[in-house]
Amino acid sequence: MRPLYHLLDPIWRRFPFPAGHTFEATTFEDATVLRMTRTYRGRELLPVYCYAVGETLVDTGISSVAEEVVAAARRAKIERVVLTHHHEDHSGNAARLASLGAEVLATGPGVKLVAHDLPRRFYQHVLWGEADPVEAREVSPEIPFGRLTARVIPASGHSVDQLALHVPERGWLLSGDAFVAEKIKVFRGDEDFYESCATLERFLTLDFDALLCAHRPRFSGGKEAIRAKLAWFRELEGRVKDSRAKGRSVRRIVRELGIEPTSSFYTITFGDVTTANLVRSILDGPRRRIEVVRALTSSS
Ligand SMILES: [Zn+2]
Repeated sequence: MRPLYHLLDPIWRRFPFPAGHTFEATTFEDATVLRMTRTYRGRELLPVYCYAVGETLVDTGISSVAEEVVAAARRAKIERVVLTHHHEDHSGNAARLASLGAEVLATGPGVKLVAHDLPRRFYQHVLWGEADPVEAREVSPEIPFGRLTARVIPASGHSVDQLALHVPERGWLLSGDAFVAEKIKVFRGDEDFYESCATLERFLTLDFDALLCAHRPRFSGGKEAIRAKLAWFRELEGRVKDSRAKGRSVRRIVRELGIEPTSSFYTITFGDVTTANLVRSILDGPRRRIEVVRALTSSS
């Protein structure tokens, strides 16, 4: 049976969500920092950051800000785009930039995922909008970053195809969505807790201070932020496993943790971004989305 959001996806695509947007370009050392978000009644929804360094753009932002992203890419003479992962707030303008001549790079699984027009849930349409499929190529271990070089670091967990980029000469880590916040309280249904922990441990073996996260950058103190997030994950893992050993249900464990946010943002995800998913990922592992499994196993 097809999941409900597969059936509703064509409707939301046609539904003109009355969103505005903001866009701002600033600089950090050698990087141009592009910050954008959709707004609703003047309120920012969820900011997304992309980073242009030399002729390389890391992530492409949301498609409703396409004009501004394309103009910034032209100014920076962008030749290649590296996608940290396939989610629509990162790949939203990749097809547009590819049509203007940029080469699009992603991990092996990422190449397959961005080639498919994946159905999105209601909140994804509201927060980020569309992301047209794009032909990408598998990224090589090192990427030219102007006068610098970025090394590709595997970073799965938040998604199966995620990568991070480490720039040792500057002490930067471009982390996609592997960080986002020190005290993560919710997971998407398909996020992998143990792979996320392994990714954070891998980050801690690297030298960096600036954490160029795609939602909440830390221009200094980035490594401490990663250490704090890993400590929080370990604490959660212990509490969840203790409760399970006492025979508690997932619902009861969530209640006892007392960390579930009450904001309306989580309500509109209809159960896709919840504390229960975080608890389940600790106890039973992630629940893969059917369209992701299909895209990864397809021959094209
Ligand atoms: Zn993501």
